[in-house]
Amino acid sequence: MAKRQTAVAFVSSEVDHERWLPQLRQALPAMRFEAWPDISDPASIDVALVAAPPQGVLGRLPKLRFIQSLWMGVDGLLADPTLPRGVPLARLVDPGMVAAMSETVLARVLDWHRHLYRYRAQQAARDWTPLKQFMASDRTVGILGLGTLGADAAAKLVALGFRVCGWSRRQKDLPGVESYCGADGLETMLRTSEALVCLLPLTAQTRGLLDARRLDLLPAGACVINVGRGAQLVERDLLAALDAGRLAHAYLDVFETEPLPVDHPFWTHPQISITPHIAALTEPRTALARVVANLERFARGERPEALVSTTAGY
Ligand code: NAP
Repeated sequence: MAKRQTAVAFVSSEVDHERWLPQLRQALPAMRFEAWPDISDPASIDVALVAAPPQGVLGRLPKLRFIQSLWMGVDGLLADPTLPRGVPLARLVDPGMVAAMSETVLARVLDWHRHLYRYRAQQAARDWTPLKQFMASDRTVGILGLGTLGADAAAKLVALGFRVCGWSRRQKDLPGVESYCGADGLETMLRTSEALVCLLPLTAQTRGLLDARRLDLLPAGACVINVGRGAQLVERDLLAALDAGRLAHAYLDVFETEPLPVDHPFWTHPQISITPHIAALTEPRTALARVVANLERFARGERPEALVSTTAGY
């Protein structure tokens, strides 16, 4: 009997399917690809490729057996009450995105370390005052989350000579990185983290993690770099810590509400640098091979890579 053709639906409210489908069709000619909302027979779809799928659409694909995300973070998908439970969900692990995130983290750590944010303010005031120079080895960078993204950023910061520590659920053994776990480990790490990078997934455990009490543990003059998810940082507590002069600067890429509302106080705060959730974008040139490999694994009846644990929430 001929093997049934694998049918894949591209479901996204934000990403144009033309960025993906021509290349996927070329790489996987034996598979059939359709883009939501033009799905000819929803009951024939085996796989959904998703990036911010509209609520309810996946639940209308009754034979769905695998969901492949085109994003690394899956908190939005898991928060959708209509997501078909029990269907394996893989997140994207994209080498281009990993490289982009580390570049973003290094750019912000160096901006703070080399006082560039202060020199920008001084330029606006025509103020020619050299500030004290630090060496990278004088500085401790703490990374919350030592997964795919955190571990890569940590290795690159170590290579630049920074003292690097990191916090994860399970103990890590990464060259040059001091590894911390648990609530006590977090407190110990925060007390020494002069630059704090958040690269955690958003879960029930990480929501609201960076509150006034924990921000207060950071050394005076520290900076916070949030490139994880906005809801991990309590916005009013950050504003209070900045306004009290406890923290020097915050580099924020992610926010409770996105796009950041035009009247939000972050926009005009002199100690906050904002980017519009661009710390690392999916890069189809490097991601395509990963997506193709996972679809092939699924079609061969093998376990796809980077499956999400719905109990852990990431
Ligand atoms: P990952 O490989 O799954 O790593 C997540 C890390 O967080 C792991 O080290 C994990 O610990 C740790 N962790 C999770 N829950 C924890 C908890 N309760 N306590 C302590 N540590 C915890 O994820 P990733 O690929 O590095 O991505 C991380 C996040 O970055 C994504 O979920 C997404 O939200 C965000 N992101 C942002 C952008 C952007 O443009 N701003 C782009 C891509 C991703 P274990 O190692 O022990 O499991």
